[in-house]
Amino acid sequence: MGALTPPVRRLLAWYARHGRALPWRGARDPYHIWVSEVMLQQTQVDTALPYYERFIARWPTMQSLAAAPLDDVLKMWEGLGYYARARNLHKGVQLVVREMGAQLPGDVAALRRIPGIGRYMAGALASLVFGLDEPALDGNLRRVLARLFAVRGDAKSAAVEERLWTHARALLPRGRAGDFNQALMDLGARICVPRRPRCLLCPVQTDCRALAEGVQDELPEKTAKKKVPHHQLAVPVVFKRERVLIAQRPADGLLGGMWEFPGGRMKRGESAEAACRRVAHAALGLTVRAGEPIATVDHAFSHMRVTLHAVRCEYASGEPNAPESERVRWARLSELERFAWPVAQRKIIEVLHGGRKKRIRE
Ligand code: SF4
Repeated sequence: MGALTPPVRRLLAWYARHGRALPWRGARDPYHIWVSEVMLQQTQVDTALPYYERFIARWPTMQSLAAAPLDDVLKMWEGLGYYARARNLHKGVQLVVREMGAQLPGDVAALRRIPGIGRYMAGALASLVFGLDEPALDGNLRRVLARLFAVRGDAKSAAVEERLWTHARALLPRGRAGDFNQALMDLGARICVPRRPRCLLCPVQTDCRALAEGVQDELPEKTAKKKVPHHQLAVPVVFKRERVLIAQRPADGLLGGMWEFPGGRMKRGESAEAACRRVAHAALGLTVRAGEPIATVDHAFSHMRVTLHAVRCEYASGEPNAPESERVRWARLSELERFAWPVAQRKIIEVLHGGRKKRIRE
């Protein structure tokens, strides 16, 4: 271990006193650290924490997760979003169990060949699990480093990305990469926050170029957000006596493997009832009678907004087919809890279970 530079010494001293006590930090089980890192991508610690605890209680080892059906994993992930993370974790763990004797490999290149492990995750696992001198840049680290070194330019560009990785690698204290990465993550979460960083409390304030230049609120630089498209979707909730038609989305892609009341795009000027009749016929091969609206649900993804117009429909004729999906089935309302649902579809279920019909925004 070499001598620490002054900013790194101050950072690590701050981390020793103020670092967050998180359950996976005490654990030295590589698999537990892996699960925590996957959950923390795109998700705040407070939200991820109960999911992590339930997940590890249910599948405490790689072998147990590898043997679990994907449907169960998605059900456990329900509400956490970004479901590709769960699918990739499951796939990755199965590969490690099958081909590596349930041992994560101790080098970055081999880690990156595992499904779902990208540059950040490989760095995080290499430093936290194996103590290798590897940086791991997540959103928090990018922001802190962009300010610490006053890195200008579009934060999403490859050039800025490379400059940040270079700064992180140069700053990295040999033999202390795990603590260093976690200290910067915590600094970004608690002090160097996105809006109005708390520079007066910051352990590296005397080293911070953005603060010296008075530009800490302007960095990292962002390009203007593109306007995201907003789609209107007709969702016929088709009843055949006491059962309702549900479908599982294709395994890959948006909400892959999750269940839904299958629907389709509405046409301009079309009523929800007419759109539901048309979609049921065109996409599902069913003739239905459209009845009462159930709910209108607004939902935002990172790249688009959707409004679901759910309408109660009565089955009239036809055999259900759903070419876009892997499975369709008729299910009783009491059975719906067994399946993994995206948040917006779950709102429709709540109304079906007796909740109030309303416009729901998320
Ligand atoms: Fe962030 Fe302010 Fe600390 Fe600089 S001084 S790293 S801007 S909190």
